[in-house]
Amino acid sequence: MTSFKAILVSKDDEGYQARMTSLSPEQLPKEPIEVAVEYSTLNYKDALAITGESPIIRHFPLVPGIDLAGLVTKSEDPKFKVGDAVMLNGWGVGESKWGGMSQRAAVRGEWLLPLPEPFSTKEAMAIGTAGYTAALCVLALKQHNIMPADGDVLVTGASGGVGSIAVNLLSNLGYRVVASTGKSSEVDWLKRQGAADVIDRTELSSSNRPLAAERWSGVVDTVGSHTLASACASTQYGGVVTACGLAQGMDFPATVAPFILRGITLVGIDSVYCSKERRFQAWDLLAKYLERTALQQLVTTIGLDEVSERAPDMLAGRLKGRIVVDVNV
Ligand code: NDP
Repeated sequence: MTSFKAILVSKDDEGYQARMTSLSPEQLPKEPIEVAVEYSTLNYKDALAITGESPIIRHFPLVPGIDLAGLVTKSEDPKFKVGDAVMLNGWGVGESKWGGMSQRAAVRGEWLLPLPEPFSTKEAMAIGTAGYTAALCVLALKQHNIMPADGDVLVTGASGGVGSIAVNLLSNLGYRVVASTGKSSEVDWLKRQGAADVIDRTELSSSNRPLAAERWSGVVDTVGSHTLASACASTQYGGVVTACGLAQGMDFPATVAPFILRGITLVGIDSVYCSKERRFQAWDLLAKYLERTALQQLVTTIGLDEVSERAPDMLAGRLKGRIVVDVNV
């Protein structure tokens, strides 16, 4: 096996750096399965890891990338054989274990899923952790019996990775989706993804009222902070809010009023250590209800050498949809 390209994040006397480098096979961690990576993705968490804006990476040096898809090239695990198409989302990969922004990865079988049909490796990464998290939010709404007839569903951070896939999935499931965005230029794009209505995110991002008019039967919140508090305050009696993100902030400046006066439910969503059973349910939902043609409109493909440049744009909310990383260009 020859050397291969990867992004390596280091923190030493020269500071915090993410750089493209060439690694030798001996540098890969010792794990039972090796994968020839075809695609990884740039998620919000990857952008934090690459820029060092948040302490996502626990050990240095480390290859970032919480997602990967590719083909097994070596396996000591009977559940996977050479040539299998596989995919990985989370499990601490790209945080405490070497991740997907590399042409090769060494991983454990318990972290891998067989590539879900009908997706290609590129489509699976176009969905990636963001899309699978959107599906976890939608599953939670369904599990709490929020039905299309119950009223509008709000999606915040709607032009982002989680948000845009949530909009698409929910509208294909028959929900009337209201998309909240800070990008007035993307209103038509969001409507093409399935939003029935688009609101400016300032409607939600600064209000601190304990209760507001009842507008949402369900919410997919990717933003946290005041937006999450406003979403709770404007959720209708018995409604359900799923919280998965912190693009506005990690704080939650809310009151208990919506919980004790309207009986709303706040559901936390974690994709990283989610059970395999739940992952299969989420990918099954994506396979059935995400339009593969629409997925193409959501995706920008970049090479490993563009990742460092795009990461700050992602943190500043300047990107839309999903960013797929083709590690072999
Ligand atoms: P993106 O960067 O693709 O999207 C985030 C979106 O949030 C932006 O596009 C923007 O949308 C909006 N936004 C950005 N900054 C602000 C701000 N200051 N105030 C209000 N809105 C803002 O990220 P992802 O979709 O990949 O991830 C979204 C969030 O979900 C992140 O916080 C991420 O860490 C989290 N996440 C959590 C997971 C979990 O397991 N719980 C898994 C995956 C993601 P717009 O311009 O349309 O308003």
